[in-house]
Amino acid sequence: MTAPDTMTTPPTGPHAPDRKPLSVPYITAWSGETRRKTAIVPNRTRTGITFADGENVQDRDGHGVLWTSRGLAPGKGVPMFGYVHPQRQRRCMRRRLCQVCGGPADQTADGTLWLLDTAGIEEPFPQAVERTVQPPVCRRCAVETPPLCPALRRGHAVVRVRRHAIVGVYGHLYRRCRSTGQVVSDRQEYVDYGDPTLRWVLAGQLFAHISGISLVSEDETTHWREQAEPIATKGAASARQRREGPALIQVNE
Ligand SMILES: [Zn+2]
Repeated sequence: MTAPDTMTTPPTGPHAPDRKPLSVPYITAWSGETRRKTAIVPNRTRTGITFADGENVQDRDGHGVLWTSRGLAPGKGVPMFGYVHPQRQRRCMRRRLCQVCGGPADQTADGTLWLLDTAGIEEPFPQAVERTVQPPVCRRCAVETPPLCPALRRGHAVVRVRRHAIVGVYGHLYRRCRSTGQVVSDRQEYVDYGDPTLRWVLAGQLFAHISGISLVSEDETTHWREQAEPIATKGAASARQRREGPALIQVNE
């Protein structure tokens, strides 16, 4: 049931001629991608969590972390804006793929391109942002996505990131209930690799520490915008996305 994290790269890179419109971000989950609904239970030694119906080899990553999963069927059903597909988010973070189109993220000597949500950040940017579950982006998506995403319209920054290290997972942190002996989760947390509580997390996304951040100039993004196709050609799907809400800024399940 758990799909491998080894999908072939779709022909939707930033410069591919058949590149798809931005109506649904690559990491967005679709309703046809059924989420695994197995109960979470204590493991045999009571030192962490496991699936009630047993584990497959793909259920844990190289750090021994248990992962939630969905089927892989992008385009099936309706897009679930606000929900991240765990396998695709991992793939983008590991391979530095654009979270919106799935093509290669833009990289130069100044670093990898990132589109960061800055709404509500009062400290001077970019020093305030060091931890993120957001994968990078390509140039085109960096300039075309913000007008389509309500969260990014409230505040965003296009930045270059010199150093990017995946350091842990974001997911549901479980604890044992003393009265029932079962496990419950009432919050989601960022947990670093090496943290003992990692055994109690059902991971949904990778998170990275980013540093060496510099803002991309407006002159440069304006130039990219001029090179991109007009958004008006992308049709009704984009208009529907503007009405329906968050597209790029998403949550874990
Ligand atoms: Zn892109």
